[in-house]
Amino acid sequence: MNYNKKTVKDVDVKGKKVLLRCDFNVPLAKDGSGVITDDKRIRAALPTIQYLLDQGAAVIACSHMGKPVASFDKWVQKQTEKGKDPATLTEEKWKKSLADLSLKPVAARLSELLGKSVTLAADVVGPDATAKAAALKGGEVLLLENTRFEKGETKNDPELAKKMAAMAEVYVSDAFGAVHRAHASTAGVAAYLPAVSGFLIQKELEVIGGALAAPKRPLVAILGGSKVSSKIGVINNLLELADTIIIGGGMAYTFSAAQGGKVGNSLLEEDWKDYANEMVKKAQAKGVKLLLPVDTVVADAFAPDANSQVVKSGEIPDGWEGLDIGPETVKLYCDAVADAGTVIWNGPMGVFEFDKFAVGTKAVAEALSKTSAITIIGGGDSAAAVQQLGYADKMTHISTGGGASLEFMEGKELPGVACLLDK
Ligand code: ADP
Ligand code: MG
Repeated sequence: MNYNKKTVKDVDVKGKKVLLRCDFNVPLAKDGSGVITDDKRIRAALPTIQYLLDQGAAVIACSHMGKPVASFDKWVQKQTEKGKDPATLTEEKWKKSLADLSLKPVAARLSELLGKSVTLAADVVGPDATAKAAALKGGEVLLLENTRFEKGETKNDPELAKKMAAMAEVYVSDAFGAVHRAHASTAGVAAYLPAVSGFLIQKELEVIGGALAAPKRPLVAILGGSKVSSKIGVINNLLELADTIIIGGGMAYTFSAAQGGKVGNSLLEEDWKDYANEMVKKAQAKGVKLLLPVDTVVADAFAPDANSQVVKSGEIPDGWEGLDIGPETVKLYCDAVADAGTVIWNGPMGVFEFDKFAVGTKAVAEALSKTSAITIIGGGDSAAAVQQLGYADKMTHISTGGGASLEFMEGKELPGVACLLDK
């Protein structure tokens, strides 16, 4: 995939109507009050919006939010599958489920952050949106309703894409969190308008794309998290690129078991043992250094206050489970990143959500903060871990897309990037 894409600075947006795809899929309070519990994603879009406004563009912003079911029949079907009694499923309840995923709170927060009014359209491409978009002037911001209120959005329906495109003259995508999906608003629309990236996607492409295409070496990949099975693509791709691969987290126990180790109650994917061995062989054949934990912190329960002890890898007693890398492994891994040119990190080293088992993840974050390497964090939980442990501002780049950054590291083509104009 070509990562060298035109940006908002490579096209003339002065006085133009710009359709801007953002990732405003923010977490909302569970009580249905519409309170945004973390506005990071809205703030992340501000530089691009501000730039467009400074250029005198009329900004028509759009985003998805959650997973609304855009047709009543389909909603009834899904709720019934979940075990709800069909007799209780009224059209009113369906409409309420949609209303809960309105972008209304986003419009309010965006307006506060920009210090100017943001109008919310009642629909995506319906009469209200089209009229408001037509009347929109340079320097003004309109937010369309949740793109997934349209059935055609997730199906990448060309008719929907055409209608969205018809409202604007230029398409700017800044929704990195959604570029791995070929939807009408993330990819389809680019067929009908000059399509470029905003600053957020530009940075993701520069940093992650740069590290994948021409890394400053040595390139060290740290892979952890829960399961081997969810990281196969990443391991495979990085084995082709990296000089060193470090394995930690829950997936390390499948590697250990595959080599005949005892893993007690640790996370284990029996079906992936052969694959783990294959990866070890592949690394040997390619001359990639593959580091596995030499010791591990085990607990007598999966709980924050469980009893714990340190044991050698492959020697976990019955009834115990590994929840973190051990102190010798920490030292080994910190040494391995010390003189790296680039470090790509995906997946925590242990159950960092429990303080007692966050030690390994914290030590690795600390080690990264001290290197002069380009440090890239990808994956939703890894980003959360680095933030929670207080090292966020010490990293070169923390990807804003969980699933998207994983697919990026897997070397997959991202439809929301591929559709943008090449430089
Ligand atoms: P990311 O979202 O960064 O890609 P993953 O979703 O793969 O990361 O994994 C994150 C999860 O892995 C965390 O919730 C963490 O608690 C869990 N995890 C890490 N180590 C272990 C372990 N030893 N046992 C069980 N879960 C683990
Ligand atoms: Mg995750």
